Amino acid sequence: MEYDFPLYRPPSEADSLILQITLGCSHNKCTFCSMYKTKKYRVRTPLEIEKHLSWAKEYYPFASRIFLADGNVLAMETEQLKSIVERLYKEFPALERVTAYAGPKDILGKSEKELQALREAGLTMLYMGVESGSGRVLENVKKGVTPAQMIEAGQKAKQAGFKLSCMIISGLGGRELWEEHAVESARVISAIDPEYFALLTLLVEEGTALYAQVKRGEFLLLRPDEVINETKLMLENIELSRCVFRSNHPSNYLSLKGILNQDKDQLLEVLTKAQQSQIRLRPEGWRLL
Ligand code: SF4
Repeated sequence: MEYDFPLYRPPSEADSLILQITLGCSHNKCTFCSMYKTKKYRVRTPLEIEKHLSWAKEYYPFASRIFLADGNVLAMETEQLKSIVERLYKEFPALERVTAYAGPKDILGKSEKELQALREAGLTMLYMGVESGSGRVLENVKKGVTPAQMIEAGQKAKQAGFKLSCMIISGLGGRELWEEHAVESARVISAIDPEYFALLTLLVEEGTALYAQVKRGEFLLLRPDEVINETKLMLENIELSRCVFRSNHPSNYLSLKGILNQDKDQLLEVLTKAQQSQIRLRPEGWRLL
């Protein structure tokens, strides 16, 4: 077995070779997330990485895209990560890009020089889970950073030359904070101005702290029509220079895609039609993580 499961990657890395050089998530506290609850964060040993690379070179010698797993590769020592990335370009001759998830705390934990060195080594793009721009929502879900730190992390990654993909979770503020979640998320994403922005919709998984809060009645989930209202308010408030926007994940009630702000009016029109029931939403039972 070359992978330590479960294994996750962003939807847009479906065709990438996944190399698992770390296990788990260095934060691992978010109340809605069950991804790495079965693992303790660690960097794989040099022997494990060696075996994993030999296997990958044997089966995928011409990989053009590599995604580095698991949850927070950027929590690794910069020199070790840099030498792995440099080595990948030497050993996979068709390699064009190397990407990874990056937690905001891990980006902030690196100096500008370290981030630039990683970028120059060939780590090209980072996926950062913003989740919400609301300070109260981020605190409730134990994300571990404030909105100001989230903006600082995103801007720092961009300044170092990384392409950045940011993700927000619709419904994460629940009934109580949906408006704040929408407006503040728009503010934070606008301030970061990433190249990619993905909107997923909350699915509460059994075993998470959020699941227990929902069961106790402490967190009230949005109905599908309320999620549409929230998305519309978020997009109305967003200002981006040129960002590929995707809300077409299997967790979403409505599939949306376009360039922001260029396609904002058309996207808002689709949302208005959904509010007026002219467009059918994905049935609850068809939503997937
Ligand atoms: S959402 Fe991201 S940072 Fe939070 S626990 Fe899950 S993998 Fe870790």
